[in-house]
Amino acid sequence: MLLREVEYARPSSVEEALRLLAVNDGARALAGGQTLINVMKARAASPDALIDLNGLDELRAIRTGRDGLELGAMATYTQIMASSEVEVTRPIVAEVVGTIADVQVRNRGTIGGNVCSNDPTNHFPPLAAALGAELTIAGPDGERSVSAEDFFEGVYLTAVQPGELLTSVRIPAKGDARDGWSAVTLGKEGTGIVNVAASVADGTARIAIGCVAATPVVVTASADETAIRDAVRSADLDPPADVHASAEYRRHLAEVLAHTP
Ligand SMILES: Cc1cc2nc3c(=O)[nH]c(=O)nc-3n(C[C@H](O)[C@H](O)[C@H](O)COP(=O)(O)OP(=O)(O)OC[C@H]3O[C@@H](n4cnc5c(N)ncnc54)[C@H](O)[C@@H]3O)c2cc1C
Repeated sequence: MLLREVEYARPSSVEEALRLLAVNDGARALAGGQTLINVMKARAASPDALIDLNGLDELRAIRTGRDGLELGAMATYTQIMASSEVEVTRPIVAEVVGTIADVQVRNRGTIGGNVCSNDPTNHFPPLAAALGAELTIAGPDGERSVSAEDFFEGVYLTAVQPGELLTSVRIPAKGDARDGWSAVTLGKEGTGIVNVAASVADGTARIAIGCVAATPVVVTASADETAIRDAVRSADLDPPADVHASAEYRRHLAEVLAHTP
């Protein structure tokens, strides 16, 4: 289906993008367009104007510093997979984005778009929650930092308010932690039925489960199979049932995948 007519602007700085968002309540940021353009074609979203962030090189940078990894919101999955900073500082990030969909989606899709759309089946929300990511949001009154646990608010809902932009995602350096990812998907590169990210440090596993609720479900447990299974069971998951999996099967997968990453 064709898009309905929509205004379009391509700002050259974050300040200009924020000004454009501020003057039009119906304006939406456009990143890789892999979700937004599809929902616009399906008429599930109908913004009046698209503010295209693709001219903002300042949002594409990937840096490492004393505090870990900083991914600009417009860094694409392909860019992350090729980044030596990511490989050295938190390699699990490249491993996981390398399993998202296909090469076309990975070439266009951005880390900012992935978290801002907060589709419960997306890869990055549970990964960000397990790794303790901090997200920077810029708005008319300046910048603020939000933890991954507070960032994801509901299905397609995040802490980014109208008129604001996500500018970066910061992830602590790996240090001695052991990270893992495990997912059951619909086909090789398909949508997740359940996915799990985990990070183990000092004998404690921090586990974030995706696809079972509106936002990633985080549990912590000592890093052995029985404790992890008990912790997931105690989370009383109430996952959705659909044509791909029953709620009971998703609950079972969550428990099994949580100790396999
Ligand atoms: C065939 C297909 C299969 C897919 N499978 C998967 C999958 O298995 N796992 C997975 O994780 N993803 C999957 N995706 C989604 C893909 O990862 C998208 O790229 C991602 O969800 C959105 O990123 P984007 O850069 O394309 O954002 P866009 O589509 O441009 O934007 C998405 C939303 O985020 C907002 N937004 C974007 N950037 C910002 C910002 N910096 N500040 C504020 N708001 C912003 C937009 O306004 C929009 O509401 C799939 C997509 C396709 C087409």
